[in-house]
Amino acid sequence: MEEKTDILNFDLKELGRLVTGMGEPAFRAKQIMSWLYKPVDSFQDMTNLPGGLIKRLEETCFIYRLRTERKLCSASDGTIKYLFKLNDGEFVESVFMRYRHGNTVCISTQVGCRMGCRFCASTLNGKVRDLVPSEMLGQVDMIEKDTGEKVSNVVLMGMGEPLDNYSNVLKFIRIINMPEGRNMGMRHISLSTCGLVDKMKELMAENLQINLSVSLHAPNDEIRKQLMPVANKWGMKELLDTCREYAEVTGRRVHFEYTVVPGVNDSEKDARELATRLRGMLCHVNLIPVNPVKERKYGAPDKKSVQFFCKVLNNEGICATIRRTLGEDVDASCGQLRQRTVERCCVKE
Ligand code: SAH
Repeated sequence: MEEKTDILNFDLKELGRLVTGMGEPAFRAKQIMSWLYKPVDSFQDMTNLPGGLIKRLEETCFIYRLRTERKLCSASDGTIKYLFKLNDGEFVESVFMRYRHGNTVCISTQVGCRMGCRFCASTLNGKVRDLVPSEMLGQVDMIEKDTGEKVSNVVLMGMGEPLDNYSNVLKFIRIINMPEGRNMGMRHISLSTCGLVDKMKELMAENLQINLSVSLHAPNDEIRKQLMPVANKWGMKELLDTCREYAEVTGRRVHFEYTVVPGVNDSEKDARELATRLRGMLCHVNLIPVNPVKERKYGAPDKKSVQFFCKVLNNEGICATIRRTLGEDVDASCGQLRQRTVERCCVKE
């Protein structure tokens, strides 16, 4: 028997080809797309489609919905962390956050990660596999359905390195942006990368209006290499030159993430060196106090030292803020919940 097609991986053009291939007019594709993002779980619910088409769709396609394995609600700030089970039994995490500018969902782009950042839980067991667009879209759909609240922003900052799964991520962005579907504006989508320079150049050529965040975490190569193996492949000069070019080409400010790790990258000298390197660039620095991960050796910085680091950057003319920590009581940092669950499953087996 032929395998059924995961219809949520289709953009409008592909849906058009699918329906015309079934002898139906192309406008049916728009109808199907709008149902998919209502979202409905069955073709039978697509009540404005002719019965014959519904039958053909049922025979050849399926609508992929994730299953909620665990859900943790933060008592302090309303953040909700989800652990979703995929069709093949793998797990991914997503986080729902309420901000003044709208509800935001942080999604995963891979199961695990192969980038090896020393403070991160997602990468502890390497990469298992890439997610396909339907699995990324599914995280947003499930959360919207569960909360009953509209999601207005998506950040690709969960498990995985989005640019290491380039074509699936780009397709996800294009599908979520489609007016016939979810119609999420490009400016409501943020992508965070550890700095895969070649892929950043590809992304720049797409000239999308999405927000780009780059995980810098250090003022120089020496410190960066201690925290991020990717720094051995791409030097900071090359990375920052690409960021400068990115801001010029797209006209969009680049956001730098800087995870503050005590005793490694948090000295006054580090802040000054960082400021020197970023001066003149259209950018913003987001300071993130490192969230201690059991398997990692780094402890949390004290609040005052992060504030001081921020002040030094500001005094040097660099726009920097400290990220508000949401969901600390629900293991909201990348990969922590999956790690716990995988550990438990391993113990059971
Ligand atoms: N692979 C992408 C997305 C990762 S998650 C990237 O590297 O940008 C988003 C951010 O959280 C990254 O800046 C990542 O370095 C940071 N991060 C991961 N684990 C963390 C932890 N335990 N504490 C603080 N920040 C962490």
